[in-house]
Amino acid sequence: MEDTGHQFTTIYGRNLVGELPNFVHTPYLVVTMEDLWPKFKGFFDKNLAGVYTVRTLEYEELSKDLERLPKCNCVIGLGGGQALDVAKFFVWKKRLPLFQVPTAMSVNAAFGQRTAVRFKSKVRYIGWAVPEAVYVDFDVIQAAPKILNRSGVGDIFCYHTALFDWKLAHERGKTEAKWPYDPRLASQSQRVLDGVMAGLDDIRDVTEEGVRILMNANRWGGAAFHNAGWNPRHIEGCDHFLFYSLEYLTHKPFIHGQPVCLGVYVGSLLQGNRAEEMLAAIHRVGVDIRPEAMGVTWDEVAEAIRKVPWYAKQAGLWYTVYDERPVTEELIEHVRERVYATYGAWSA
Ligand SMILES: [Zn+2]
Repeated sequence: MEDTGHQFTTIYGRNLVGELPNFVHTPYLVVTMEDLWPKFKGFFDKNLAGVYTVRTLEYEELSKDLERLPKCNCVIGLGGGQALDVAKFFVWKKRLPLFQVPTAMSVNAAFGQRTAVRFKSKVRYIGWAVPEAVYVDFDVIQAAPKILNRSGVGDIFCYHTALFDWKLAHERGKTEAKWPYDPRLASQSQRVLDGVMAGLDDIRDVTEEGVRILMNANRWGGAAFHNAGWNPRHIEGCDHFLFYSLEYLTHKPFIHGQPVCLGVYVGSLLQGNRAEEMLAAIHRVGVDIRPEAMGVTWDEVAEAIRKVPWYAKQAGLWYTVYDERPVTEELIEHVRERVYATYGAWSA
């Protein structure tokens, strides 16, 4: 059966920001981040209705800001995940055309219909926004910090652990009634993962080819939740659960792909699922998963691993390998040894 879902129109090129004032509906609102605006403001003209710099993702605060927005006929999202998500929120509420310009490859927010907003700090994916187009400018992406660009692989590498978890749940009779195992969906994710695995050096070096490979993969992934009938089973598994647990314990901000890649390694170890191969790929693509590189300590990571089964249960998350294989101290020590053996000891 064919994949009938829609993926967002995605355009690659150069000077794509500079061209926007020549065709978007006027006047236009730019939604961006405070630190990015000075780099881009020279590209916009007298039809700029205003600039909204993101300070919050809380639904209530965004709703208040919405009332104060200047009158405009379209919205341009310009930035990483947060600016693109807030742009989606505004056009969903105001029914305006949307043009998205991701400035880094860190997340797939540009390519998904729903927007991540917080309700009293808790993330929910709500709303509906389909951009006229997503503009991926090579010069813009290549100017972003490499760690942001490379970490975009996290949301693709996690298919490795997610597919194992889904099949495991299927074999145990533990799949959710609304998400029965579907080998066609599984093979689609696997194909996208294989494509990224074949391009690790280009992604690490952020070459044009690397930008195309990773952004096309995230383009597929961003729409995959919707296209599978709001089923996340083939794109997310226990990999993300470790990230959630770590976030819950530390209340620290993370570059999404780092803790997710750590979750892929730990999850694939528990699964007995080519863990060393995944660790080698994570290292090769240049995503540092040492705790210090994420601004946390080893003890916090160890505690987050221990707490995954508890976290997943109280959050009502789906059946994964953590439901049937115990997290032992030996496993945690093995993770520590392998991560530092691969990346070396941390020196600030
Ligand atoms: Zn993710």
